Amino acid sequence: MPITRYAIAIGSNRPGRHGLPEAALRAAIAALGPVVAVSRFFPTPPLGPSSRRFVNAALILDSADSPPELLARLKAVERDFGRRAGRRWGARVIDLDIILWSGGIWSDAALTVPHRAFRQRRFVLDPLVSLVPAWRDPVTGLTMRQLAARARAVDRRPRRS
Ligand code: ATP
Ligand code: MG
Ligand code: MG
Repeated sequence: MPITRYAIAIGSNRPGRHGLPEAALRAAIAALGPVVAVSRFFPTPPLGPSSRRFVNAALILDSADSPPELLARLKAVERDFGRRAGRRWGARVIDLDIILWSGGIWSDAALTVPHRAFRQRRFVLDPLVSLVPAWRDPVTGLTMRQLAARARAVDRRPRRS
């Protein structure tokens, strides 16, 4: 199998057996094996009904896994860290999402890469820009730096009622 490069987003918003979100992130990243690069940890206000503080980061992983194989591994790590399946948006110890892969676009019933929502999420884009500013989203043709600038501009737009 050829080696594939993946960009993964990781987040945590509740303490598990590893203690604070930062400790859970560090432990989950270690569980993935050798990674090419890890961003700094970005504190983020919560999104959706969850009220707790989030910590987010991005990492680059080189792997012989296909996207579904990698997703299975990420889900195993999530389970290992005490995440309950079947609940979206809730407090969770660890969320691991595949944001990009070097193969371009992947789409099946269980998995879409690039991740469907990442272009609207500064908590994903800001860590990614720090690692791979020139990586181009195959769907929009925009780089991570351009997508992050666009997301920042949307945040600054005056709100109408
Ligand atoms: P969001 O996807 O909006 O960030 P979430 O991460 O909280 O929400 P999960 O409960 O972790 O959602 O995942 C729900 C399902 O999404 C997973 O079981 C998985 O099959 C699917 N999925 C689709 N695309 C991806 C992707 N790129 N990375 C991770 N999971 C994905
Ligand atoms: Mg997610
Ligand atoms: Mg997820």
